[in-house]
Amino acid sequence: MKCRTCGAKAAVNMRQHKLALCKEHYLEWIPGQTERFIKKYGMFTHAERILVAVSGGKDSLSLWDILWRLGYQVDGLYIGLGIDEGIGYSAESQRLAERFAVMHGLRLHMVDLGNEYGATISEFTRLTQRGKNKPCSLCGLVKRYIMNRITRDLGFEVLATGHNLDDEAAALFGNTLKWAGEYLLRQRPVLPEAPGLVRKVKPLCRIYEREMTAYALLRGIEYIYDECPFALGSTSIYYKGLLNHLENDRPGAKLTFYLSFLEARESGLFSEHSDVQQSLHPCPNCGQPTSAPGLCSFCRMIERIRGTNNYALSR
Ligand code: SF4
Ligand code: ZN
Ligand code: ZN
Repeated sequence: MKCRTCGAKAAVNMRQHKLALCKEHYLEWIPGQTERFIKKYGMFTHAERILVAVSGGKDSLSLWDILWRLGYQVDGLYIGLGIDEGIGYSAESQRLAERFAVMHGLRLHMVDLGNEYGATISEFTRLTQRGKNKPCSLCGLVKRYIMNRITRDLGFEVLATGHNLDDEAAALFGNTLKWAGEYLLRQRPVLPEAPGLVRKVKPLCRIYEREMTAYALLRGIEYIYDECPFALGSTSIYYKGLLNHLENDRPGAKLTFYLSFLEARESGLFSEHSDVQQSLHPCPNCGQPTSAPGLCSFCRMIERIRGTNNYALSR
């Protein structure tokens, strides 16, 4: 297989695009594609400041690398979730995020859940769920809350996350199986800002996970190979497996599934729902927007942690 651009030996063959490229041209092609999607979906401009949420994984570190190479003003945000199961997942992912920042001379902002809010994801899971459930919905709530708060507090215009096409297609598949209208409505490359909520963008949403792995490896980015220990057996990994079967038989099927969905929403599939806006009000404790009556879900969770900690200590 030869590189389409220069005829040298190809390093990556993408059946879904009928395209093979050598290392040098592949490392140009991925940033070029990302730039194209940033412009196509109006994600941000070079005049704006961008905060990238980095987990230490291949997608978020590669996204940071790509935006930096494209000349955007981009800092990183690492949230220390304190997941100490497995290989010490959080400690290792933090080390890799910090290493990347130092090597590239970039600024990484850190939030440590244990220090700032009194309990880590692992502790909270042990205290309240006794190992029965996965902490993913809680963890998702924590990450969304902190990402929004820090992006606003530090004065960034936009928050970027490293979701790739496989993430988006798996989420879309799950939401479609349940016809989860509200989630389908919110699933898009750009979620515009709203009162109290920052703009959120996914510049890698059209790039296959396999392509992102190839980018990180060819670029020499050191990232955490292991999944979070709580990801094992998750529904999204199961859906990714199903979609990979489909993709194997029909190269391009994942991309078509996702793009057809975006086109359908553009052509008004959900138009009768588009004015359904949840009425948000500021949380009386922290000021972030919430649809819940009274305190926001994050503040209620923190109250619960404190209550459970006190209970545990008093026994
Ligand atoms: Fe959090 Fe679950 Fe993701 Fe682990 S797999 S980082 S617990 S959401
Ligand atoms: Zn080439
Ligand atoms: Zn709150």
